[in-house]
Amino acid sequence: MHKVQHAASKAGAQLVTEKAFAQGEIVARIADFTVVSTPTYQTIQIGPGQHIQELGVIVYMNHSCAPNTEIDTTAMTIRAARDIAPGEPLTFFYPSTEWEMDRPFICACGAERCVGLVAGAKYLSVAILSRYFINEHIRLMILDALTPLSGPEMVEAATHHLLESDLLEIA
Ligand SMILES: [Zn+2]
Repeated sequence: MHKVQHAASKAGAQLVTEKAFAQGEIVARIADFTVVSTPTYQTIQIGPGQHIQELGVIVYMNHSCAPNTEIDTTAMTIRAARDIAPGEPLTFFYPSTEWEMDRPFICACGAERCVGLVAGAKYLSVAILSRYFINEHIRLMILDALTPLSGPEMVEAATHHLLESDLLEIA
């Protein structure tokens, strides 16, 4: 169903779908993996200090700042973020799962609103992160990062936190 193309892109290998998907459809399920405590360039973060590896072809999914899939580490599914045509490389937004990446890079995805440095959610503003589907563990880590702030600083940070509804839900 999904085919790995080696050296097809600047990033090296990529995972290409041979089938069309409608927005919201499950593109793949993450079923086989092992959990490790430190990230590598081949892991996906599922919680603080929890990273999964040995993901099969999923490891060939590249980053995009305008991704066509969302990796949901709670449901362990990869969903189509929009309609996807056969032959398209499958991509996701790395900071949607990664807090602090093992191998940061300067993105050359060509998206109109490319974030530039892809180093993990820790290094992006909440305004940028709010444009994307972001996993629960990353939202919690954003809250943790905001916690040392107090008074007007906290209000300021929360106001700019466009995931404000999540803040209210957790509080
Ligand atoms: Zn980009």
